[in-house]
Amino acid sequence: MANSVNQVWPIVGHQWAVDLLAPLAQISGTGPRHAYLFLGPPQIGKSTMAWTFGTALLCTHNGRRPCGQCRSCQLMSKASHPDARLIQPTDRDGAADRANGLLRVDAAEAIVHEAMLRPLEGKYKYIFIQDIHRANDSFANKLLKTLEEPAAHVVLCLTATDRAELLPTIVSRCQTFDLRPLPIELIEHSLEKEGRASQEEAQLLARLSNGRFGWAMAQLRDSKSWQQREDDLRSLWQLTRASQVERLAFSQTLSSNRENERLFGLLALWTGWWRDVLLTQNGCEDARNNIDHLPQLQQDAKGCSTTDVQTFLHTLGRIEGYLRHTVNTSLALDVLLLQLPRPRVQG
Ligand SMILES: [Zn+2]
Repeated sequence: MANSVNQVWPIVGHQWAVDLLAPLAQISGTGPRHAYLFLGPPQIGKSTMAWTFGTALLCTHNGRRPCGQCRSCQLMSKASHPDARLIQPTDRDGAADRANGLLRVDAAEAIVHEAMLRPLEGKYKYIFIQDIHRANDSFANKLLKTLEEPAAHVVLCLTATDRAELLPTIVSRCQTFDLRPLPIELIEHSLEKEGRASQEEAQLLARLSNGRFGWAMAQLRDSKSWQQREDDLRSLWQLTRASQVERLAFSQTLSSNRENERLFGLLALWTGWWRDVLLTQNGCEDARNNIDHLPQLQQDAKGCSTTDVQTFLHTLGRIEGYLRHTVNTSLALDVLLLQLPRPRVQG
């Protein structure tokens, strides 16, 4: 039986991390360290964990923290606590932009300044920096100064998708938490609970989520991103039947649009789809995720050779790795599109 929603903090899963962090925020606890780094894939729960920790640290209740009731908890829920600061990547005009923005030096200067001030209401100054992998060099260097000589009342929480993208000097100054994908059953159960989703929706979303509860919740909240998946699947099916010229034209469009998050989301969708095709070919139907498109899965499984599907999956994995290290995007995507399996016409 999957365990239910975490009993101590309002967080689904990642119990081990809550078990380590929650006692630090209790009045009787040893108190927090200066810096924490939460690692893991997008929408796995890093920010929820970091912000809940901050809320617990600033909570004024004597018992279980965060209490969710006190003035401090209320302010944190609106992100307007005077002792908490959220720093996010921004575009050149300073607007928050987590998809393509950067953490720039002026934000780091604000952190240095903030860290020198005494807390106004609570015991701590809580500074939360989202997506530290999007820091430019001057941001990272300024931040290191704060990490090297932190004031006693400062607690920094950082999030990033991959430690390999960070300066080792930043990682070594933080206590790190690697958040792992959650079991499908836990996500399904939590989505169904409190009527967030119907049983059918919960089952599908849990399977497609790759263990990321935040992703599943985002699909429920935002019908646009769900429609995006449908559109992306349809364009994939069309591409399998498209000419080489059409495939290369698609590759050009994709590489000219510099939204990395969008690109990696699309590649993840393709990986999920062809993995399901392979599972269908190998008689492992129960393990498939795209269970709302079974006829199309059957069709691709019958029409493509297992070798083509395996080769394509292998190339997908390799190219995704290249793209993360900014090899020529356009060339890498051309190679990928030309290897996309082409189902034989049935009939
Ligand atoms: Zn509280």
